[in-house]
Amino acid sequence: MIPYKIYLSEDEMPKQWYNVRADMKNKPAPLLNPATKEPLTLEELSVIFCEELAKQELDDTDAFIDIPQEIQNFYKMYRPSSLVRAYCLEKKLNTPAKIYYKFEGNNTSGSHKLNSAIAQAYYAKTQGLKGVTTETGAGQWGTALSMACAYLDLDCLVFMVKCSYEQKPFRREVMRTYGAKVTPSPSMNTVIGRKILEKHPNTSGSLGCAISEAVEVATTTPGYRYVLGSVLNQVLLHQSIIGLETKIAMDKYNIEPDVIIGCAGGGSNLGGLIGPFMREKLLGKKDYHFIAVEPASCPTLTRGKYVYDFCDTGMVTPLAKMYTLGNGFIPSAIHAGGLRYHGMSSTLSQLYADGYIDACAVKQTEIFEAAELFARAEGILPAPESAHAIKVAIDEALKCKETGESKTILFGLTGTGYFDMYAYEKFHDHQM
Ligand SMILES: *Cc1c(COP(=O)(O)O)cnc(C)c1O
Repeated sequence: MIPYKIYLSEDEMPKQWYNVRADMKNKPAPLLNPATKEPLTLEELSVIFCEELAKQELDDTDAFIDIPQEIQNFYKMYRPSSLVRAYCLEKKLNTPAKIYYKFEGNNTSGSHKLNSAIAQAYYAKTQGLKGVTTETGAGQWGTALSMACAYLDLDCLVFMVKCSYEQKPFRREVMRTYGAKVTPSPSMNTVIGRKILEKHPNTSGSLGCAISEAVEVATTTPGYRYVLGSVLNQVLLHQSIIGLETKIAMDKYNIEPDVIIGCAGGGSNLGGLIGPFMREKLLGKKDYHFIAVEPASCPTLTRGKYVYDFCDTGMVTPLAKMYTLGNGFIPSAIHAGGLRYHGMSSTLSQLYADGYIDACAVKQTEIFEAAELFARAEGILPAPESAHAIKVAIDEALKCKETGESKTILFGLTGTGYFDMYAYEKFHDHQM
């Protein structure tokens, strides 16, 4: 029998990340300088990002990249993350399907974002920098980055969207516990912040505005660089640890998934989970059905256009070719904050354009129904973002019940929902 949880020993843990771009025939389009419309060079990128990360951002050729020993050591504190056979959920659904999930919520930050936070903080430290700046919306990325910076003794400046700063005081305090300086955005600390406040003194802020402030501080303060928790090539690279561990664990028991499902905000957890499986598909060795799940209110892949667009609302970042709803798109205030992004990783965008990935969009009430069913069966209380993947995994399992097929379904469970109880409350009170 396959165990409930498949473990990896420290020796079995991946020692290299996987860079899917190396195996893609059609490479993702490069980031462009918005002024010249020319591809960004290493020098230009290194003004904003740490140099080693800028190199990773541009690397289209190396399939495997060594994970520095210090990052491997940090991973050992909370990894491998559990790969769980969802026997209880299968029983509850009475399905012949076999369901597995990879759970990334077992660390204090509560999500997969720590996998890239530690890598980005490490490269900042080895470059001899004093600190990093970033933005956070819902708070998961800021929390993960503060943990990583505390471990490496780096300064961490977080611009937190003002409404989240006020509505999610506990997230804010977790970050401060780890030593981060958290500033509500827009703030009076930056030129762009002052400009926005002058025009809109009562604004509750936005992610786009917080990005602009964090980039401004990074590029005008010596010894600081900007870091980002999703969308970028380098982030997908670091998140490949999720898929690599999953593949090693599944291979031990000769398990082959038929369907692989993940929620898609900027694309980092999905890109990381499917990476090594996508490799086999790209090399023509195996076939897998990949499904990206997004909210109906922010349907980037299913309804967006595949064009060059800014990564932020303030139009200060480079241009990326991606599926996008437009940098001015403001999604309704759904509770899955991590999925409210107008664009999508350029790597996943290219794979989707080439037909390697399917996508679907699901409604908010459906995902909370799925989240609750899952919590009652498997015990884990999922983040609303993660519940998007749960919803589609359940749908696939119910299809198997009708057809009698016993497919193997794998999905990414990206995090826990302890800071989302206000959203659960709305759902329970039928106010959603
Ligand atoms: C940030 C986040 C996501 C979405 O981000 P991706 O880059 O698309 O993976 C999903 N789930 C959780 C719990 C998150 O914190």
